[in-house]
Amino acid sequence: MKSKKVMSGFLAVVVTFSMIGNVFAVGIDEVTVQKKAKNVILMIPDGMSTGGVALARWYNGGAAFNLDSMASGLVRTYSSDAPIADSAPAGTAMATGFKSHTGFIGVLPDENTMPGLEALNSADKRKPVASILEAAQLDEKATGIVSTSEIMHATPAAFTAHDPSRKNYDSISEQQVYQDIDVVIGSGSKYFTSDVRGDKEDLVSVLKSKYQYVTTPNEFNKVTSGKLWAMFTPIAASYDFDRDPNKEPSLSQMTKKAIDLLSQDKDGFFLMVEGSKIDWAAHANDPIAIISDIIAFDEAVAVALDFAKKDGNTVVISATDHGNSGITIGNKATDNTYDKTPLSSFINPLKKAKLTGEGLETKFNADRSNIVEVMATFYGLSDLTAAEIAEIKDTKAGSMNYTVGPMIAKRANIGFTTNGHTGEDVPLYVYAPESVNQLTGTVENSDIATYMEKAMGIDLSTTTDKLFVKARAAFESKGATVLFENTDSKNPVLVAKKGSIEIKMPINKNIAYVNGSPITLDGVVLFNGIDTYVPQSAVDLLQ
Ligand SMILES: [Zn+2]
Repeated sequence: MKSKKVMSGFLAVVVTFSMIGNVFAVGIDEVTVQKKAKNVILMIPDGMSTGGVALARWYNGGAAFNLDSMASGLVRTYSSDAPIADSAPAGTAMATGFKSHTGFIGVLPDENTMPGLEALNSADKRKPVASILEAAQLDEKATGIVSTSEIMHATPAAFTAHDPSRKNYDSISEQQVYQDIDVVIGSGSKYFTSDVRGDKEDLVSVLKSKYQYVTTPNEFNKVTSGKLWAMFTPIAASYDFDRDPNKEPSLSQMTKKAIDLLSQDKDGFFLMVEGSKIDWAAHANDPIAIISDIIAFDEAVAVALDFAKKDGNTVVISATDHGNSGITIGNKATDNTYDKTPLSSFINPLKKAKLTGEGLETKFNADRSNIVEVMATFYGLSDLTAAEIAEIKDTKAGSMNYTVGPMIAKRANIGFTTNGHTGEDVPLYVYAPESVNQLTGTVENSDIATYMEKAMGIDLSTTTDKLFVKARAAFESKGATVLFENTDSKNPVLVAKKGSIEIKMPINKNIAYVNGSPITLDGVVLFNGIDTYVPQSAVDLLQ
C-alpha cells in the first residue's frame, strides 16, 4: 500500500545523544525510537481558518487560546486530485494516511493527480484502508468519537466507516453501529430509525442492545463506566451560542465524558473530537456562529490538554481538515483605514448578537412579521435597510445564517471571499509528552495519521491487510462458491459455501453466520461498489 503515500520523511528516528565520558557518542546502540504514547486525542475544528481564530480570540478578550500553546507547524490539506479538499478526503487522510477524492470516506481514490503523489495502482481503486481508530481497536485500545454534526457526517465517518460516498448515510451509520467503538457522543439519532432508513433497519434497538444509549444530559451525566452511545438531537447539534444546556451538553462536556470513560482502559485509547459546525458557520459566512464554535472547541481542547498534562502519556493533536470562507479581520471597506480602525469597531457589532444566524431563526414568528424586533434583540442589528428586511423575509427555512451572517459581518468589517472551502495551509497544533517526539514543520494531512500510528506503536498497513480482504478471491481460493443473497436488495448478504458449510455475511455488519450461528468478526463486511471486502477472520472460518 505504500505507493499512495506522500513521501515527506518527517518521521525520522529520534536519535538520542548520551554522555560517555566527556564526549557525545551516537551510534547504533544509542539510537532509540521514540517512546510510545499510551493515548492519542485528535481534535478537528472542521473548516477553521486562522482569520476566524484571531477574530474569536479578540472577541473573547484577547488572551491566548488553549490551542495557542500547542502551535507546532503547518498542514497541507489538498486531496488526491484537487488543491481544495472536501471534508471526506481530508478526514480520510488524517484517519488513514492516504489522500483521497471528494466524497470518499476511508477508501482510496480512483487516481492520484496532484503533483508529488505517486500513481495509484488501478487494482486499489476505492479500496478500503484502515483508520487509526480501527488500528487502535485491534491493538486492544479503547476508541471513541465525539462530534457536533450527525455522527455519520464526513469527518467522524472517515474514522469509523468506508464508503465511496459521504452521502451514503445508511451504509456509514450501519457500519458505525457494528464497529464496536466504545464511546460515541454526537447527534443524528433520526438516521438510525427504521422509518428514515432506506434499509428499514431499526438500529436504535441494536444500539440499545450494545450500549448505554442516552439522549439527555441527565442520563449522560449518570454514565460513569462502560460503553456509551449518546445522541442529543435528531440531526446536528446546536451552535454553542444557541445551545440549551438542559438539552445538549457542550463539546467540552462531551470530550470530558469520553476521556473519563476511555481512560479506564488499561491498554490506552484513541479519541477523535470534531468541532463540526465551525465549518458550517464558515460556509454561511456567519461570524457569530464561527466565533461561537471556535470558543467552544477551544474549551474542549482545554479538557484534553488538562488530561494529557496530568496523565503524562497522552498526545493531543489538533488541525482543521481545510480552510473555509477566507474570513478576515478587515474587508474592502477598510482598504484605506485598516491600520486606523480600532478593535472596538470590529468587535462591538458582533458582541451585540446573542444567537447565531441559525439560532435566530426560531425567534421569528410564522409570517416573519417580527423581523425588526428579533434582529435588534438577538442579533444587535437595529439599522436594517428595507432591502435587508425583505431579504430576511424571503430566506428559506434553514438558511437564515446565510442571509444575516453577511449583514453583521459587513457592519463589523469582517471579510469573506467565498462560501466554500479554501486551499491554504492550516495550523498544526500538537501537545506531546517530553518522551514522545513532536510533529513539527510543514506536513501533509496524511502525515498526521502516520504520526499517530508511530506515537501509539500501531500499524495501519497490517490493519488494512487484516480487515479488508477481497472476499470473492479469498473464499474461492479455498474452494468455496461465493454469491450474493438478494432476497432483500436493501440488505445484501454475502454467502460463501463449501461442502456442508455455509457462511452468511451481511454487508456493513461485523457478523458471520456459520450454518446459522453468529460469530463476531473483528471488522465490518464492506461493498465499495466494485468489490466486497471481509476481514481475514471471516475467510479463516473456512478450513
Ligand atoms: Zn471539513
